[in-house]
Amino acid sequence: MPNIILLSGDGIGPEIMAEAGRVLDRVNQQHALGVSTEQCLIGGAAIDATGEPLPEETLTKAKNSDAVLLGAVGGPKWDSLPMDKRPEKGLLKIRAGMDLFANLRPALLYPELASASTLKEEVVSGLDLLIVRELIGGIYFGEPRGIEGEPGQRVGYNTDRYSEPEIERIGRIAFDAAMARDKKLCSVDKANVLEVTVLWREVMDRLGQEYPEVELSHMYVDNAAMQLVRAPKQFDVMVTGNLFGDILSDAAAMLTGSIGMLPSASLNSQKQGLYEPCHGSAPDIAGQDLANPLATILSVSMMLLHSLNAPKAAQAIEDAVKSVLASGLRTKDIATGASGEQIVGCRAMGEAVLKALN
Ligand code: NAD
Repeated sequence: MPNIILLSGDGIGPEIMAEAGRVLDRVNQQHALGVSTEQCLIGGAAIDATGEPLPEETLTKAKNSDAVLLGAVGGPKWDSLPMDKRPEKGLLKIRAGMDLFANLRPALLYPELASASTLKEEVVSGLDLLIVRELIGGIYFGEPRGIEGEPGQRVGYNTDRYSEPEIERIGRIAFDAAMARDKKLCSVDKANVLEVTVLWREVMDRLGQEYPEVELSHMYVDNAAMQLVRAPKQFDVMVTGNLFGDILSDAAAMLTGSIGMLPSASLNSQKQGLYEPCHGSAPDIAGQDLANPLATILSVSMMLLHSLNAPKAAQAIEDAVKSVLASGLRTKDIATGASGEQIVGCRAMGEAVLKALN
């Protein structure tokens, strides 16, 4: 029986998780998934209750679960705490503790929301791309690293480093994802300058032979950044390392106009995953029934697809979100002022998704 850990966290976390939880309960009944859930503490809420941003009990339960659904962490109340006692540390620790090496970030632009993007409608309308980013290796973690030397002459340095097994495991996630989509994979590197990415490219090519149906291409990261804003619809799945992925996935997110719409998944080799919206805890609107719960609801859909092997239930949620948007309902962050729009709060948006699921 699949077991899901729910971590509401801080700020708008409890509000968006309440709606996502209701959606999960509903598809659980409708598709007889047999899922059980348990609430645990993380972030500021955990600091207030236990003094730690990630209590041992939460990590143990998360490791023993099939998947974790997270709201968001952080807020001004905890901003003066030392770095490793801050709510955000809880998030970094759970990612590392669960060995979540693959970050999947879809950037999907519903045609109804095309005017929310800063790019021209015809460039982005219907955009549906997935960025697969390696999350626990590369230059963010490579040794040696540091700042050394005499004042005035100091040198700062980091090491960009990937082993063949590390490249292969993220590659497999990306090829598998491409197989389930339009079978196009673009691997992003800087193989004209960086040896680490020469190896990256070699391993991707080798893996490509195991996936003959997937059309594999390579692109230098500078060109990829340009192509993302020039003609983003040319991409289906992109795979890249930690640093390039960090930058490109934020750029791709912005193409869609609203951060309140974007889910994400972080997976380990057992396909155990942590699912969360891309946005933070939005303390400026917390407790006011203004938050958009759709990114968290769509994170439930990703969880059903990637960790619970329930593609029909996942699709049902996506369809429900689409039909709610098509009916004109908007939370404030995605309202464009177009005629036919009706502004609703977090609770009512969740309610509408439930209704659409019926
Ligand atoms: P944020 O994403 O919380 O908010 C940025 C802006 O987007 C705000 O104006 C906010 O109101 C709006 N927004 C975000 N999510 C929304 C939603 N679902 N519906 C409607 N509007 C939404 O980023 P920030 O303001 O830089 O950070 C606030 C706090 O969140 C900080 O403490 C930060 O450390 C934390 N944070 C947490 C995570 C996480 O938990 N994964 C990620 C980023 C930031």
